[in-house]
Amino acid sequence: MQRIGVIRDDRFFEHKPGHTHPEHPHRLRVIYRMLDKDFENDLISIQPKLASLEQLELVHTPTYIKKVFKTAEHNFSCLAPDTPASAKSCLAACLAAGGCIEGLNALFSKMCDICFCLVRPPGHHALADRAGGFCIFNNAAITARYAIKAYKLKRVLILDFDVHHGNGVNDLFYDCNEVMYMSTHDNFLYPYTGDFEETGTGEGEGYTINIPIPRQFNDEDLYHVYHEICHKVFYLFHPELIIVCAGFDAHERDPIGRSHMTEKLYGWLTTLFLRLRAGINRPPLLFVLEGGYDFRGLSYSVGEVLKAMTQYTDKSVLPDVESDHGGRLVEKAKQIHAKYGVWL
Ligand SMILES: [Zn+2]
Repeated sequence: MQRIGVIRDDRFFEHKPGHTHPEHPHRLRVIYRMLDKDFENDLISIQPKLASLEQLELVHTPTYIKKVFKTAEHNFSCLAPDTPASAKSCLAACLAAGGCIEGLNALFSKMCDICFCLVRPPGHHALADRAGGFCIFNNAAITARYAIKAYKLKRVLILDFDVHHGNGVNDLFYDCNEVMYMSTHDNFLYPYTGDFEETGTGEGEGYTINIPIPRQFNDEDLYHVYHEICHKVFYLFHPELIIVCAGFDAHERDPIGRSHMTEKLYGWLTTLFLRLRAGINRPPLLFVLEGGYDFRGLSYSVGEVLKAMTQYTDKSVLPDVESDHGGRLVEKAKQIHAKYGVWL
């Protein structure tokens, strides 16, 4: 039986980018409602703390942090054309980053075995000195850097199944061999980066795995990609911490993504990650909410992840899935990455 922690806090609703903005407070409201209804006694609720300046500076420049703090003086301002801020967006953003660190600490203190940080604003597009793609602070990247520093880790794996490429995470660790980043995404969508050939630089060569996914892919195709690549990555990179950038905008209902996944995929992926993790001494596993803009699709998907977590045992059966489409992408990634010898 897994002890599952969730980071939740109603103060995340205070980030109000506007009524018609897709990154709406209602995203978390529907998730929290679902938690209370379907997982009442199954989860350990953990209160987030605000990230400290020192923690934010693990990733972001002091000038950029100051710019974000300044937004608290106005009812409405714009950090980027697609990333507006209300007066309390700064509070929510500090709480989102701090909440992920709190989730990580809960894992290392053994308060729980897995933790899902149900936070907003999302983070994977945020750069050292820039907001973008609805992201203010890079929650996953800050947590990875914090983990390396506080717990002296040498190998952190970040898996990103959001439909958008996590260019922030990608860029922040591009020359680094302590963080391996694997992303599947539609690279004809914002931020239009993340091609196969973007594999890292210097010491980080081969530690960034980008896999653009065709729009006609289905659950089976994408699952197959993760099944094949994660097997290699888990056993050869042997992460001491796994962070999942859990965005659910590849869901067929999503108004921004153009993909055709269903919530079933997210349950499958969760079971896969748990099974592979069990084979490498169960490193801490932290899910961090990224995108997902259809309220129902989002809450179904998070529900499937939590169901897979609560029902998981080492005997859980992995889906028996084959996909030629997925297989071809795996082969292409292998061909490109073979010369680095990092996960092959
Ligand atoms: Zn996204």
